[in-house]
Amino acid sequence: MQEINLDQVEPSNYDVIIAGAGAGGLLTALALTAEGKRALILEKAERLGGVWHSYWVNGYRVDQGLHVITRVTRGAFVRFLKTYLSPPPKFVLHDGWQFRVYDKVGTIPSSIGETLRWPLTGMKGRLGLARIGAKIKTMNLEEMKRYKDISFLEFMQSNNATNQVMLDVMQSAIYMAAGVPISEASAYESLRTLKDTDRESSKINSLKRLFFGSGEYDEGYVIGGMEGLIKRVISTINGDYVLNAPVDQIHEQEGHVTGCSVAGKMLAHNRVVSNIPLSFMPDIITSKNDTVVDFFKRWSNMKPTHGITLWLGLRKIVIGDRKNRVLVHPNPNRWIVSISSFDPSCAPEGKELVGIAMMTIPGKTKDEMIEIMKGNGLEEYYPGLLEHAEMEHVQMSYATRAALIPGQTDLDRPGPRTPIMGLYIVGTDTAGSGVGLQQAAQSADGVIRALRVDH
Ligand SMILES: Cc1cc2nc3c(=O)[nH]c(=O)nc-3n(C[C@H](O)[C@H](O)[C@H](O)COP(=O)(O)OP(=O)(O)OC[C@H]3O[C@@H](n4cnc5c(N)ncnc54)[C@H](O)[C@@H]3O)c2cc1C
Repeated sequence: MQEINLDQVEPSNYDVIIAGAGAGGLLTALALTAEGKRALILEKAERLGGVWHSYWVNGYRVDQGLHVITRVTRGAFVRFLKTYLSPPPKFVLHDGWQFRVYDKVGTIPSSIGETLRWPLTGMKGRLGLARIGAKIKTMNLEEMKRYKDISFLEFMQSNNATNQVMLDVMQSAIYMAAGVPISEASAYESLRTLKDTDRESSKINSLKRLFFGSGEYDEGYVIGGMEGLIKRVISTINGDYVLNAPVDQIHEQEGHVTGCSVAGKMLAHNRVVSNIPLSFMPDIITSKNDTVVDFFKRWSNMKPTHGITLWLGLRKIVIGDRKNRVLVHPNPNRWIVSISSFDPSCAPEGKELVGIAMMTIPGKTKDEMIEIMKGNGLEEYYPGLLEHAEMEHVQMSYATRAALIPGQTDLDRPGPRTPIMGLYIVGTDTAGSGVGLQQAAQSADGVIRALRVDH
């Protein structure tokens, strides 16, 4: 794919126009390439990728957020990469979770036996955990759907599973999927996360693997970071892109898309895929059709997830392993990963890049949150992290465009089609199960399938 400027655009040279170059837009263009199609990508920002992004800070390569690829062996995102990139990218798997509750450390129990020895709670808590774990593990997807409109906390309370440490540890796992506290996260989506329903299995199999994990660990980091991945995706796509090109209108006539305009220039086309967040769409769609107007208004209120990430470049290696660490207590939950232990190329030789992430805390300023992240037991339980830091960098942004709360589960999304023929929507607020890049890939899958059927 090549960068061109707006004056060079000839819309008839392309099979489709893609508005927005986040993960959803780029993955759609990647899959279209494999079908022999050419895409024109119009991106508002001065770079491609949206929040899927990396850059260098004082010799360290930081991703936009602690980006860990889930379902490395069987998820939609990795399937995209393996299908369309040759050779496929390399992933280094995590060595498992480590939850710290004050001075006690535990992992995710993978059997009843391990649950009953779980060091993070007393016996009463362990028994409660074993009971609710068994219930969750043996539920099927249809049963889970019944809980789509209540929060996970409500689900737990209705099952008398209220041990605080257990809830706080579950919060850590569910945050990665839902992006909100368990008091807000949809119970259905939380249950899916805990059970890992992408690989539906029989109750007997579930019972065999009783509890929230299995022997198999399926999360990893990609060698070369997000930067390496995006570069490869961009160089594989067939088509052109224009940067600093905000689409200000998508036009409709008699129920069909007729094109879009950028800086007043009309680019006529009968196939447009929009990766623009749904919250912006009511201002962008020009239509007098009530069904169209109502559709985009209805879906414009999706609540995103927000995270804050503190990157530390350490003069020497302090953690040096590939564990997913979560400091559960003292509160708030913080997730700590030594990224350079997966991919040494992101830090100068002999040094370490560590990412610390948490949910943003409503009502707190950025500086207050940084102070909280650096305090509350961080230096006590992970000594040297702050003391040896020679680089410190903070990021705040939305992570996915739709938190998994009631009304925004994968059962409640609007895409990939819209009431305008020829206009499709892609991205983490439009369709697809899972979270983050999996969700973006699933939404792109949906658009590709719809394009095949409709044309
Ligand atoms: C801190 C953080 C941590 C994360 N961790 C993980 C993780 O561990 N695992 C995981 O799978 N995912 C993770 N993600 C999530 C994942 O990166 C995102 O969910 C995904 O990249 C979002 O893709 P999207 O298609 O929704 O597009 P977005 O990134 O929202 O992109 C939309 C694009 O549209 C452009 N645009 C907007 N308006 C216009 C317009 N009018 N005209 C033209 N262009 C426009 C924007 O500039 C942008 O480029 C994380 C994200 C962050 C920020």
